[in-house]
Amino acid sequence: MAMPHDLVPAGATPGPWAPPLAAPAPRALCTDCGLSRTALAKACGRACQFLRPDHAALEARVHGRSRDPARPDEAHFGPFRRMFRAALKPARPGAQWTGIATRLGERLLETGAVDAVLAMAADPEDRWKPVPVLVTRAEDMAACRGMKMGFAPLLALLEPAARAGHRRLAIIGIPCQVHALRAIEAELGLERLYVIGTPCSDNTTTEMFHRFLDLLDPDPASITYLEFRADYHVELRHADGRVREIPFLQLPISRLPPDFFPLTCRTCVDYTNVLADITVGYMGGTGAQWLTVRNDRGEELLALITPEVALSAPASAGKRAGAVKGFLANTDRAAGGLPLRRMPGFLRPLVGWLMPRIGPRGLEFARARVEMKAVETVLFLRHQAPRRLRSMVPPHVWRLVAPYGLTPRDGEAGRPARGRADPPGPQPAQAETPRTTAVPTG
Ligand SMILES: Cc1cc2nc3c(=O)[nH]c(=O)nc-3n(C[C@H](O)[C@H](O)[C@H](O)COP(=O)(O)OP(=O)(O)OC[C@H]3O[C@@H](n4cnc5c(N)ncnc54)[C@H](O)[C@@H]3O)c2cc1C
Ligand code: SF4
Ligand code: SF4
Repeated sequence: MAMPHDLVPAGATPGPWAPPLAAPAPRALCTDCGLSRTALAKACGRACQFLRPDHAALEARVHGRSRDPARPDEAHFGPFRRMFRAALKPARPGAQWTGIATRLGERLLETGAVDAVLAMAADPEDRWKPVPVLVTRAEDMAACRGMKMGFAPLLALLEPAARAGHRRLAIIGIPCQVHALRAIEAELGLERLYVIGTPCSDNTTTEMFHRFLDLLDPDPASITYLEFRADYHVELRHADGRVREIPFLQLPISRLPPDFFPLTCRTCVDYTNVLADITVGYMGGTGAQWLTVRNDRGEELLALITPEVALSAPASAGKRAGAVKGFLANTDRAAGGLPLRRMPGFLRPLVGWLMPRIGPRGLEFARARVEMKAVETVLFLRHQAPRRLRSMVPPHVWRLVAPYGLTPRDGEAGRPARGRADPPGPQPAQAETPRTTAVPTG
C-alpha cells in the first residue's frame, strides 16, 4: 500500500498526498478542523460547532429541510431519507468495519465524479495518528482505511486542493469538521462536493489515546485495531493475530486521567454527522454497519456501491431509559469532579453478560448513545463552562434530555437557531422500564 507523502503531487507520484500545512491559529475550544490554518481563519467565529452551531439552518440548506421531530428517529439522528444495516462484500482488509467509507471514495474517483478525495491516512510512524491527505487515485484510498484516534486539520487541505485545480471534491470527515465545512461551503467555489460522514464520539488526542492502550495491554504497540462495538464489548486485534473482546464494564476507564476526554468532545452536539450527505457508522447496525442516507447526493453515493453492498432494514430492541438514567447519574458526578460510582466487582461479569442480551440494541442502542451524548454535553457545560450553554446547546439537544429531567435553567436556553424557531421542550412520554444496569464505566 502506498504511504502518504508530502511531495508536490507531480501526477505520477504514487500514494496519498499529505501537503505541508500552515500552523493553527490559537482558539479556545477547538479540534483543529483545519479552518484556522486557511485564509478563511476568521470564519471560525461563524463556522465552528463549539461557538454557535446552527444545525437547523445548515440542515435546511444542505438537505432542503431541517430535522422533523415528528418523523421517526429524526429527533435523534437528524434529517434522513433511508437507513440501513449494511456490509460491503467482501469486507476490505484494514477497514474499521467493512470499508464502506473508503470504498465510496474509491468509487467517486473510479467513475470520475470527483478530482480528489480529502480523508485521513495514518502517520507512517504511528498507526493511530491521523494525517490529512488528498487522494486522486482510487488505489490510494486503501491507505485511509481504519479509525485513527485524534484530531487532524482535514479542512486545511481545501487550499492545496484548490491550488492543484481540483473543483470537484469529496470529503470523509467527522461531525466537527463537517459543520465547519458546510458553513463555508458556498465560499469555496466548488463545482461539486460530496460529504461522507462518520459518527464520532469520545475522541481525544492521539497522545492521550496511547495512555488508554497502555492500560489495555502490556504490549500496547501490538494493538492494531480497536473498536467500541454495539454489543457492549471493545474489540482489540493484535499484530500476531490475537483477538480480544473486553466487556465495557471491565475497561480501565476510571484509571484514565480526568482530562482524558477534552471538553470539545465532552460537549459535542452532533454525534451522527447530520450535515453529511451519507453517514457511515455502526451504532444502529446490530453488528453490521449503519448507513443513513440524507439527501439526493447521499442516494447517488449509495448507488455507486449498491452492487457490492448487502443492505437490510435496521433492527431495534430493548429499552434505553434505564441505561440513560444510570449514565446521567454517573456523568453528573464526573462533571462535578467526583469519582465515578463503580459497580461491585462480583456483579461485573454478570452484568457484562446481561447487557448485550437485555440492554438496548440496534437503533435503540444508537438512540441511547445519542441521548447520553446530549446529557454529557449539558452536564459538562453546566459544570465547566456555564456561560457557553446558551450559545452551544441547540434546541434539539434540550429536547433529547428533557425526558430525563434536564431542562434549561434561567439563562441557559439559547436564542432559537437562525434557521428555525424551535423551542426546547419535552418529547412525548415514552413507556420505558428503568433498569439498574447500564453505565459503561471501569
Ligand atoms: C474518532 C472516531 C470515533 C468514532 N465513533 C463512532 C461511534 O461512536 N459510533 C459509530 O457508529 N461510528 C463511530 N465512528 C465511525 C466508525 O469508527 C467507522 O469509521 C465507520 O463506521 C466507517 O467504517 P468503514 O469500515 O466504512 O471505514 P473505513 O473504510 O475503514 O474508513 C474509515 C474512514 O474514517 C476516516 N477517519 C479515520 N480516523 C479518523 C479521524 N481520527 N478523524 C477523521 N476521520 C478519520 C478515514 O478518512 C477513513 O476514510 C468513529 C470514527 C472516529 C474517527
Ligand atoms: S472552526 Fe475548526 S479551526 Fe476554527 S475554532 Fe472551530 S474547530 Fe478550531
Ligand atoms: S467527538 Fe465531536 S468534537 Fe470530538 S472529534 Fe468527534 S466530532 Fe469532533
